[in-house]
Amino acid sequence: MHVLVCEDDELIASGIVAGLSAQGLTVERVGTAAAARAMLKVAEFDVMVLDLGLPDEDGLKLLQQLRSQGLEIPVLILTARDSVTNRVDGLQAGADDYLLKPFDLRELAARLHTLLRRVAGRSVNLIEHGRLTYNPSSRETLLGGESVDLSRREQALLQALLQNRGRVLSSEQLKDSIYGLSDELESNALNVHIHHLRRKLGNGIVETVRGLGYRLGPADAGEDAS
Ligand code: CA
Repeated sequence: MHVLVCEDDELIASGIVAGLSAQGLTVERVGTAAAARAMLKVAEFDVMVLDLGLPDEDGLKLLQQLRSQGLEIPVLILTARDSVTNRVDGLQAGADDYLLKPFDLRELAARLHTLLRRVAGRSVNLIEHGRLTYNPSSRETLLGGESVDLSRREQALLQALLQNRGRVLSSEQLKDSIYGLSDELESNALNVHIHHLRRKLGNGIVETVRGLGYRLGPADAGEDAS
């Protein structure tokens, strides 16, 4: 889960980054509304933690503007302003949840997970394939009910295969679906990702179709994964 934290207070921010990282989340931290805007343009995030009192702009105004520009990820606001009015304002501005300072980091992590589950439940069909369940929204992969840790590229590769069940995809098609256009690509990178995916999900997850490309293996092929 990729989290954007927008908080100007060094002490609070470093606590959040350390706490969420320890929970296995990937965290980017910015200290101003301008930096948050810039970050949202260059990277994809699953959830945003937003402090309301930012040095260059009011957090609520930033949120309202981002929502009006189509930002869809869940946003949790952090606020020291403990009043009903502020909470209502926050929710009206497009926040999904809020936490009052001071807060417990474990509570913050738990709230973020809940937000993502809620969002996932709202919009997504789980993709099932034998013992494998993939959630395109949270990018969570389960094998026999156990969570499997996949890199971003591996997730993208798996998703491309699952969404093209029964179809053979060429190396070029797979590369397009797992890399942005701007990425430099090493010639064997696709093979490396396929190798990792097979190691994690079982050899049969990806079938090589000689001379043509690859396709999703049969649904019962995940049995030999460790
Ligand atoms: Ca602040």
